[in-house]
Amino acid sequence: MNRTFDVIVVGSGPAGACAAWRLAKAGVSVAVVEKAALPRYKTCGGGIVGRAMQALPMDVRHVVEQDCHTAQLNFFPGKLSFTSHRPTPIVSMTMRNQFDYALFSAAQEAGATVHQRCVVDSVLFHGDFVTLVTGAGSMNAKFVVAADGALSTVSRTLDLADGRVLIPALEYEVTVPHDRLDTFHGIARFDFGLLPHGYAWVFPKQQHLSIGVLSMVRRGSDLKQAMARYLDLLDCGFVTQVARHGYVIPIRPRGQFVEKRIVLVGDAAGFADPVTGEGISFAVRSGLMAAQSLVDGLLEEEPVRQAYTGSLSETILPELQRGRLLARLLYDFPRIRSWAFSHLGQPLCEAVTDVMAGERQYQDLALKPRTLLRLLTPKWFRNSVHRPARPRDDRA
Ligand SMILES: Cc1cc2nc3c(=O)[nH]c(=O)nc-3n(C[C@H](O)[C@H](O)[C@H](O)COP(=O)(O)OP(=O)(O)OC[C@H]3O[C@@H](n4cnc5c(N)ncnc54)[C@H](O)[C@@H]3O)c2cc1C
Repeated sequence: MNRTFDVIVVGSGPAGACAAWRLAKAGVSVAVVEKAALPRYKTCGGGIVGRAMQALPMDVRHVVEQDCHTAQLNFFPGKLSFTSHRPTPIVSMTMRNQFDYALFSAAQEAGATVHQRCVVDSVLFHGDFVTLVTGAGSMNAKFVVAADGALSTVSRTLDLADGRVLIPALEYEVTVPHDRLDTFHGIARFDFGLLPHGYAWVFPKQQHLSIGVLSMVRRGSDLKQAMARYLDLLDCGFVTQVARHGYVIPIRPRGQFVEKRIVLVGDAAGFADPVTGEGISFAVRSGLMAAQSLVDGLLEEEPVRQAYTGSLSETILPELQRGRLLARLLYDFPRIRSWAFSHLGQPLCEAVTDVMAGERQYQDLALKPRTLLRLLTPKWFRNSVHRPARPRDDRA
């Protein structure tokens, strides 16, 4: 077995598989090291939002179980409800074992060497190369991409301050009778107000429902109880079969992303969306960006650092920062949220849908003072405000 590569990617989730795919396509010698035997279950809603689909460099339509062209946002108490529709899917529903395997296979086809059932235990740093100590022996590389998820072993070997915030989330794979399943068809459903700082969701799959709940604060929420209440509310308390899973989502990024020839991507870097907890979009994008930076930086540490942090600062980081503002409004101020949605529910629902569908970014949304003012000002008042006359068109 070859044990020396230009780059070793640890983890074959969306961040790792996309990084390996891009590196292999560029002709870099790259290996993927994955602790699980693939395909493997991953605790996740498996919802691939439109902006994630747009970011993916390979076709994954064959693993989509159901397209949702409708997003439904419900608010409790008060039972406010809003729906948005789009001609292209807002969320495409997959199971992560199939989705991740499709990405992994694409990386392998592009030329990446793969090692499954291979756990990275520790990392040794030598200046101009890195050694990974795995259950199957040692491997060397000029660079390592840490794509090993929220509890990243590779990142823990670096002396980096971990500024990420890891929030808890539950995902239940719930089998219900077919007539009940049909009532959720084609709709990505999100319910707010059932627990203090979080939300719950139903993602319909081909044969079952993926039902989840998350809290944006680390402690204090009894997610299991919230889930039990939610299943009752959905009239799914009688479910015929349920598989329960829980994990964490990092909703705040680290401060550093390249250190000692290690490049951090996806959940290892803390790139999940702070409003929704959706992590696949920026896992894919950061994986691709890291790979491009390694290619452009010719595997030299300083140029790679500059290229990657430069790309992140122009794209993912400002978007996450703007998202955090919106998340504070949504989860920390429930009264303002109730007021905002009772007055502006439909435009807000459309705005969040636009972001998920990849039609706009948080940076373009209501958090700009001018747009906020427009949203918060009644239409009759806006129409009554004097507008300056448009310049005369002399060609007319
Ligand atoms: C309950 C829940 C629901 C979610 N729902 C959604 C959703 O619907 N849509 C969405 O976009 N996001 C969702 N997310 C977030 C999403 O799952 C993550 O953000 C995303 O998986 C991050 O991708 P990644 O490639 O960075 O890491 P991961 O997908 O976690 O992949 C990491 C990989 O590294 C491997 N690995 C770990 N340690 C080692 C090691 N030491 N050696 C070798 N390999 C290792 C793992 O086996 C794994 O395959 C959800 C998260 C949770 C917890």
